[in-house]
Amino acid sequence: RAMDTQQQLEQRELGNTGLKLSCVGFGASPLGKVFGPVSDEEAIATVLEAFKPEFELSNFINRYYGGTLSEKVLGKCLNALGVPRDQYIVATKCGRYKDGFDFSAKRVTKSIDESLERLQLNYVDILHCHDIEFGSLDQIVNETIPALQKIKESGKARFIGITGLPLDIYTYVLDRVPAGAVDVVLSYCHYCLNDSSLEDLLPYLKSKGVGIIYASPLAMGLLTENGPPEWHPASPEIKAACKAAADYCKKNGKNLSKLALQYSLSNKDISTVLVGMNAVWQVEENVSAALELQASGKDEKTLAEVDAILRPVKNQTWPSGIRKS
Ligand code: NAD
Repeated sequence: RAMDTQQQLEQRELGNTGLKLSCVGFGASPLGKVFGPVSDEEAIATVLEAFKPEFELSNFINRYYGGTLSEKVLGKCLNALGVPRDQYIVATKCGRYKDGFDFSAKRVTKSIDESLERLQLNYVDILHCHDIEFGSLDQIVNETIPALQKIKESGKARFIGITGLPLDIYTYVLDRVPAGAVDVVLSYCHYCLNDSSLEDLLPYLKSKGVGIIYASPLAMGLLTENGPPEWHPASPEIKAACKAAADYCKKNGKNLSKLALQYSLSNKDISTVLVGMNAVWQVEENVSAALELQASGKDEKTLAEVDAILRPVKNQTWPSGIRKS
């Protein structure tokens, strides 16, 4: 995979894992049809596009999206493409299921076997505990993470991570587990044009030695011309501001999604930015956006203009989880 570095996506170290990830990662949730229909042919073509040499795909998927469908479709794609296992990185999740959350040791231990079967793989590189704000954080600390540790020892997952929306879940857990027990965190919707609240937490996360994965640079569709899906949890005010930003960009011949992805990519403390992709054109556009950023930097002028439009809703979020605050 030797390439001209100008043409190759930057690779970044993931915390202390020793893994090097492409700065753009492939979020497979759209393969689970959460953003609309996708044919098998389109799914395979999209994953194939992601395997182009410059992409060095890192795959992030989970059993929950589309009720395990994203895992099945990705498994089928990887199998159809026959790429050697050591040439890509796959992560999946546990603890969140179609019928609710279950972070018990028993369930997560069963879960990894089910995931591996659907993915048609012997191991995943990263196993995340999915959206822990919906569980008891004390159970995560005392039961789930020790269970994941055993899965790690068994070789079915190389590294373990935690994901969720509220930022205080990370400090709660990382302050209470032994050093090195959690390898990675996956934060989403907090380092994008409309909400950069993750920034303040980055020094803490680095001090804990965890790798930082950031997902949803397009704020789960808010920062796209087509707008978010029906189920998007943002308030009408946030949706309206993001739509105004998209309209402004369109009118001025700019692409809000490109601007948004470049913004998330520009912080090098973030090892990889996961974008959900279900079409070849999206892979092409997102890789080009990253290469353009590497070559010529951010579009500061448009960023400032869009920032002004989004300012009234800046860092506003939505509730997630079972706790009151
Ligand atoms: P995203 O912000 O990446 O947006 C995805 C949407 O943008 C999809 O509709 C996609 O088709 C569209 N899109 C992609 N590239 C585009 C482009 N160039 N132009 C216009 N539209 C484009 O949100 P996401 O998919 O929710 O997040 C990415 C990944 O991160 C997911 O697939 C998932 O794997 C992960 N994730 C995890 C969690 C969690 O663990 N709790 C939460 C959110 C996301």
